[in-house]
Parts: sequence; structure tokens; C-alpha cells
Amino acid sequence: MQCAKRDELSAKAAHVLGVIVKLGNEQIDCLKSNDQKRLLEIDKELERQYGEKQRAFGALREHSKEHGC
Ligand SMILES: [Zn+2]
Repeated sequence: MQCAKRDELSAKAAHVLGVIVKLGNEQIDCLKSNDQKRLLEIDKELERQYGEKQRAFGALREHSKEHGC
């Protein structure tokens, strides 16, 4: 079933997941180059983005349930 709102929420969730993947890859580089400072900075950002991801998934789930889409 087509739903513009679900598409929007789904795109938002996918975007946050993309950001998390990118940050994860950056952390791998930090581990390889032993950049502890940047590693911790990215860790904080990852935690923030993980919260965003939880909210995005929650909104998507809520909408699908209420709208039946
Ligand atoms: Zn919907």
C-alpha cells in the first residue's frame, strides 16, 4: 500500500542509518590510526544518532500501526 507519510518516515529512518554507518566507518579509521580523541568524539555523536534512529523507527512503527499501511 502506497503511503506518502510512511515513505517520508521511512526515508528519515534510512538517512539516520546511513549516518550511523558512516560514523562507524570513521571509527574504524580512528582505530587503525589510533586517534583516540576523534574516536571518543564520534562515539558521542553515534550515541546521539542512535537516539535519533530510535525515534525515527518509533515514529514509523506508530504511523504504520495507526494508519494500517
Ligand atoms: Zn500511512
